[in-house]
Parts: sequence; C-alpha cells; structure tokens
Amino acid sequence: MAYSYRCGDYPGMESCPGSFKAETEAELWKHIELHASIAHQENPEKWSAEERQTMQNLIR
Ligand SMILES: [Zn+2]
Repeated sequence: MAYSYRCGDYPGMESCPGSFKAETEAELWKHIELHASIAHQENPEKWSAEERQTMQNLIR
C-alpha cells in the first residue's frame, strides 16, 4: 500500500511536474508541504481546511 499525489492535479497547478509517493499518508503530506513551500513559495500552515480537503481528495 502506498499513497501518491500529483501536484499537477490541483486546479491551477496543471504545469507542475511534481509527483510524490510515500508509504504512509503522514509522510506523503510532508513531501507535499515541502514541495509547495519550495516550488510554489506557499506556507502550508496557512492552507485552509478547504484547500487541504481538495488536496486530500487528490491523494491516490
Ligand atoms: Zn507543484
């Protein structure tokens, strides 16, 4: 069992090639947050519940 997330699946992020896979969902979120902060200059601490839910729905 593995969890994966493609950044380009997020609305507006279509051009991003970022893709991550981890054994646990908790680790996957760390990859996503690190990627967002470095590649998109975002602050994951400021993501709203709605934004996190949208991302949650994209985790495969
Ligand atoms: Zn990205």
